[in-house]
Amino acid sequence: MTTQDQEHFRDSIGTITEEGKRNYIHPKKPKGKFTNYRTYVSWLLLAILFIAPFIKINGNQFLLFNVLERKFNVFGQPFWPQDFHLLVLSLLIGVVFVILFTVIFGRIFCGWMCPQTIFMEMIFRKVEYWIEGDRPKQIRLRKQAWNAEKIRKRLLKYVIFFLISFIISNVFLAYIIGSDKLLKYITEGPLNHVGTLIPLLVFTAIFYFIFAWFREQVCIIACPYGRLQGVLLDRKSIVVAYDHKRGEDENGRKKFRKNEDRNELGHGDCIDCNQCVVVCPTGIDIRNGTQLECINCTACIDACDEVMVKTGYDPGLIRYASEDNIEKGEEFKFNARIKAYSAVLAIMIAVLVTLLFLRTDIEATILRLPGQMFSTKGEVVSNVYTFKLINKTVNNLDNVVIKLMSHNGEVKIVGGNSKVMNGGMTEGTLFIEIEKKDLSSSKEKLKLGVFADGELIETTSTNFPSPLRIK
Ligand code: SF4
Ligand code: SF4
Repeated sequence: MTTQDQEHFRDSIGTITEEGKRNYIHPKKPKGKFTNYRTYVSWLLLAILFIAPFIKINGNQFLLFNVLERKFNVFGQPFWPQDFHLLVLSLLIGVVFVILFTVIFGRIFCGWMCPQTIFMEMIFRKVEYWIEGDRPKQIRLRKQAWNAEKIRKRLLKYVIFFLISFIISNVFLAYIIGSDKLLKYITEGPLNHVGTLIPLLVFTAIFYFIFAWFREQVCIIACPYGRLQGVLLDRKSIVVAYDHKRGEDENGRKKFRKNEDRNELGHGDCIDCNQCVVVCPTGIDIRNGTQLECINCTACIDACDEVMVKTGYDPGLIRYASEDNIEKGEEFKFNARIKAYSAVLAIMIAVLVTLLFLRTDIEATILRLPGQMFSTKGEVVSNVYTFKLINKTVNNLDNVVIKLMSHNGEVKIVGGNSKVMNGGMTEGTLFIEIEKKDLSSSKEKLKLGVFADGELIETTSTNFPSPLRIK
C-alpha cells in the first residue's frame, strides 16, 4: 500500500457523507474497565461543578466568576480586578500545564475531564441510550418513518435534553451572578428578572443545540485545543493507540475464523471485527493511526479488550501508548521538551505562590482629585483627594480611619469614618491639612496609614503640593 493510500482516510471526516451531508454517529454503548473509571471521574467532576457555587466559606461563595461586577472568588478567597495579574498568571499556568500534560499524555484531558465530553457522553448520551436503546435501535429509529413510536421517543428525548440544558445554564449562571442571587431570582419569579431570564434561555438554547445536534462536531471542528494537537503531540506522547505491529501481519488484518490457528498462520491479533469503530463517538477508525478527531475517550480500548479476551488474546491491542512504544518498544522518557515545559511551569507556580503570599488583604489607593490646586487658610495648606479601600478579607472592617504617618497634620474623610464590607470596596473624598511649618518642599511625599478599630492594616503614600515659597 502506498503512503497516499494509507493516508486516504484523512481526506474525509466520518461525520460528513460523500454528498456533504451530516453523517450522524450512533456509537455503541461502551462498557469495560476504562468506561467505569471514566464514569466515576465524571460523577466526581459533575458533583463539584453542580455543588461548588452553593458552598460558602466564611460567607464567600467557593467559586465565583462575576465578570459583570468584577468579583471573583477562588476557593472562597475574594479576588478583585486589582488582582488581575494573579488571574492572568493563573491562566498562563493553566495553559502551560495543559501543554505539558498534552505533550506527555496526549489528549487525555478531552476524554476524562473536558466538560463537553462529560456532558455529552455521561449525561446526554446516557439519556439517549435509555430512551432510544443501543446503536442498532438508534439507527433503526433514525431510518424509520415518523410514526407514533418515533414521535414519542424523540419528543421525550428532546424535552429532557432541553431541561438538562436549562439546569446546566442555571448552574453556570450561579457561577456568574452568584448562587444567592440566582436563588433569589428563582423565588421572586423569573418574570420579575427578564433581563437575566433572556440570556439564560439563550444559553439554554446554545447548550441544547450543541448536545442535541452539534455534538462531536465541537471536538472535531470547533475546539481550539483539538486543533493544537498537531503541534503538541510527538512520537513520545502517550495517546490511545492501536498496536499495528501486534494487530497485523505483512498482509494486513485477517478476520476471525472458527477452528483456525491464527498463530500458526502468522496472522496478527486484530480480527477486523470493527468493534473499535462502532463504539467511537467521533466516528473514526483508530487503526488508521492518531487522528485529530480522537478525543481519547477509551471506548475503543474497552471494546477491543473485550474482543481480545473472548478470542483468547491478551488485552491491550488498543491501549495508552506512544508511537515510539509501539514502533520500537521504547518506554516513556523525559525528553528535552518536557523538561523545558516543566521548568517553565515550576517557575510560574513559584512566582504565583510568592505573589499570593505578598498579596495584601486591604488595598488602599489615595489620589489627588484631578484639576484641584492646594488651598491655604492662614498657616494651613490643604489638598483634596479621592480614596479607594478594597477589603479582600472575609471580615467587615468597621471604623476605618486614615492617618498621616510621616507628618503632623490631619486627614478628614468627608462624611466621617468609613466602613468596608468583606469582599467589598468603599470610595470617597478626603482632605489632608498640614501646617506650612511642617512642610519642607513644594511637593511633599506623604505616608498614610489605614486603621480599622485602631489597628494599622495598610500603609500607602501620596503627594502633597503646597505653595513654592513656604518658608
Ligand atoms: S478512537 Fe477510541 S479513544 Fe479515540 S475517540 Fe474514538 S473511541 Fe474514543
Ligand atoms: S476491536 Fe480490536 S480486534 Fe476488533 S477491529 Fe478493532 S482493533 Fe481489531
